Amino acid sequence: MNLATEERIALISVHGDPAIEIGKEEAGGQNVYVRHVGEALAELGWQVDMFTRKVNIEQEDIVQHSPNCRTIRLKAGNVDFVPRDNIFGHLPEFVDNFVEFQKQNGIIYPLIHSNYWLSSWVGMQLKQKQGSQLVHTYHSLGAVKYNTVKTVPLIASTRLGVEKQVLEIAERIVATSPQEKEHMRTLVSTKGNIDIIPCGTDIERFGRVERKAARRELGIDPETKLVMYVGRFDPRKGIETLVRAVRESKLFGSKDLKLIICGGSRPGHSDGDERDRIEKIVGELGMSQMTEFPGRISQDDLPSYYAAADVCVVPSHYEPFGLVAIEAMASFTPVVASDVGGLQFTVVNEETGLLAPPQDVRGFANAIDRILSDAAWAEELGQAARKRVENKFSWDGVAMQLGELYTDLLRQSVEQPVAVSS
Ligand code: UDP
Repeated sequence: MNLATEERIALISVHGDPAIEIGKEEAGGQNVYVRHVGEALAELGWQVDMFTRKVNIEQEDIVQHSPNCRTIRLKAGNVDFVPRDNIFGHLPEFVDNFVEFQKQNGIIYPLIHSNYWLSSWVGMQLKQKQGSQLVHTYHSLGAVKYNTVKTVPLIASTRLGVEKQVLEIAERIVATSPQEKEHMRTLVSTKGNIDIIPCGTDIERFGRVERKAARRELGIDPETKLVMYVGRFDPRKGIETLVRAVRESKLFGSKDLKLIICGGSRPGHSDGDERDRIEKIVGELGMSQMTEFPGRISQDDLPSYYAAADVCVVPSHYEPFGLVAIEAMASFTPVVASDVGGLQFTVVNEETGLLAPPQDVRGFANAIDRILSDAAWAEELGQAARKRVENKFSWDGVAMQLGELYTDLLRQSVEQPVAVSS
């Protein structure tokens, strides 16, 4: 793509720092998304600045990732970790420091792409103050999330209000799956412009190791039937369903069956209640021998884990997209996933893996058994999974589609300049 000028864009991710080493700290899909989208857009010729909140005085204020891509950390409240539900009150300071940064550097970003509702509030202030075009990706919708949790936090009504407002006033919303778009329409607002551009994955990183080599590297026997989970420890990720399903597997009791649950911190470190709860269930079900908790695995080491697995299970109660599914698929590994949200888009039932109703232990057990008991079919599913990711979910393809969207919006804004409040 040729850009007439080197356009500057700002990606805002207040609570998900794109520069932290994914895998070393508690970081999820949003950090991965912003970092990869930013780097891939820079490769296409955009000048990309990614803004996040500084959480530690030892962190650098600016991290240069490549000549055209950097992370900029702004102060908002104490320079300390603050849980996301408590960040909202610090956002006016984030906006002020963003404006100050622009002033000091002689920049006004014509286009802002915000991530998660907190950043969308920042984006809306900047749109109003300086006429920046606003693109927003939700990553998670309050209207869906609050339906799946027992206690709703105090911030809920503010969040729901902001999520509705941004849908109605942003130039464009990026839904990462048709299912997410449908939820926005039915649960948030019928107004506003939504494009579907999926999340992506690194198709060179994932898929570079073969199963045999991966197993040698990890010390896993070639005969082992290996079931894998990768992700955060959060009750909504449904790890309990997976554990109980493996207990119900026809293969349970065989010395070859193994379950690896990747994520969280290293063994011996506390991960909060969910890790303790899952380990307790594993113990009660007599599965301690066959289950491993290797802790959080770095993005460099994950390709071997995915490749070594016979099946990767994504048992989330809900998932707007779910990067883990496409990472496993890129690694030629079939996926058994909950039949919800973005997983209905990424995993094609009976072609690249199997879908089961969320929280349905029996359904997951059957699906896992079908894949573990038919190696030739599992191989076919894995090949088809890889093809689907190559065709639809590479970061380069995703960045290309986002770049086209930005170019369109910037062209329109030159033709019809936006009124700016004083
Ligand atoms: N992840 C990782 N190491 C781990 C566990 C997870 O690097 O031990 C990464 C994983 O590769 C994926 C991200 O964390 O890129 C999780 O993204 P996903 O969209 O699946 O879930 P989220 O955390 O956003 O709910």
